[in-house]
Amino acid sequence: PVEVTASPLRDEHGTHGAVVVFRDMTERQQVDRMKSEFVSVVSHELRTPLTSIRGSLGLLSGGALGPLDPRAQRMVSVALASSERLTRLIDDILDVERLTSGQMPMETAEHEAATLVDGVLEQASAVAAEAGVVLRAGEREGRVLGDADRIIQALLNLVANAVKFSPPGGTVRVDSVQDGAFVRFSVLDHGRGIPGDMLEAVFQRFQQVDSSDAREKGGTGLGLAISRSIVESMGGRIWVESEPGVATTFSFTVPRPEPELQPARPAAAGG
Ligand code: ADP
Repeated sequence: PVEVTASPLRDEHGTHGAVVVFRDMTERQQVDRMKSEFVSVVSHELRTPLTSIRGSLGLLSGGALGPLDPRAQRMVSVALASSERLTRLIDDILDVERLTSGQMPMETAEHEAATLVDGVLEQASAVAAEAGVVLRAGEREGRVLGDADRIIQALLNLVANAVKFSPPGGTVRVDSVQDGAFVRFSVLDHGRGIPGDMLEAVFQRFQQVDSSDAREKGGTGLGLAISRSIVESMGGRIWVESEPGVATTFSFTVPRPEPELQPARPAAAGG
C-alpha cells in the first residue's frame, strides 16, 4: 500500500504546480501491528500473575491465616491497593489499544438515555458514598444509537472523576438532554475544576492537571482518553467547561436514532 499526499504550489498568479509525496505504508503498518500485538501480549502476561497476587493478598487481608498484627495488616492493605491499581492500569492500556486499533467490538442499537444514566449512577453509588458525595440525576431525556456498555463506560469515567475531585458533601449531577440530532450527556461537579489551559489536554493520555493526581486519587491518567475514543467512534464529541472551584461540566454527544433527524440525502439524479 502507498499513501499519497498532494499539496498545490500557489502564488498570486494562481496554481503553477504541485508537490506529490508517495509513501510506502507497508513498513508503518507492520510497526503498528507489532506495537499493538506487543501491548496486548504483555498486558495479558502481566494480568495473569497479578490476579494470583491479588487473590493471595485478599485472603491474607481477610484473615484466612488468622488475624494479622496491625503492621502486617497495613502492609497487606497497601500491597492490595497497589495491585488493584496496577490491574486498572493494565485494563485501561488494553482498552486504549483496542479502541485505537479499531479492535473494540462496538454494537449499534437503540437505548433510552435514562436507562444508561441509571446504570451509571448505580455503578458509581458505592464510590460516591465512600467519598461522601451525593449523586443526582437531572434531566433524563432521549434515545441514543450506540453501544450501551461503551456509553456506560465513557459516562462512568466522567462520574468517577467528578466524585474524585469533589469535596466531601459535594454534589454531582448527571443529565441527558436532546440536542438536535444528538443526545448530550453531561456531568456537573463543584470540585477543584480545571484551569483554562488544560481543558483540551486532559483528554490526552496520561495528562493530569496535577502530576500527583493519578497516584493520590488512584487513577490511571487514561480515563478521559478512553471516553474520548469511545464517543468519537460512535460519531459524537466530548468536551469540558470549567470555572475552577465553582463548577465543572464534562459533556459528550451520542447520535439519536430518529430517521427524520438524519441529514437529508440529495434526491437521486435522472429518473
Ligand atoms: P485519571 O485516572 O487521572 O482520573 P483521567 O484521564 O480520567 O485520568 O483524567 C485526567 C485528569 O483530568 C485528572 O488526573 C485530573 O487532573 C483532571 N480531571 C478529570 N476530571 C476532573 C474533574 N471532574 N475535576 C477536576 N479535574 C479533573
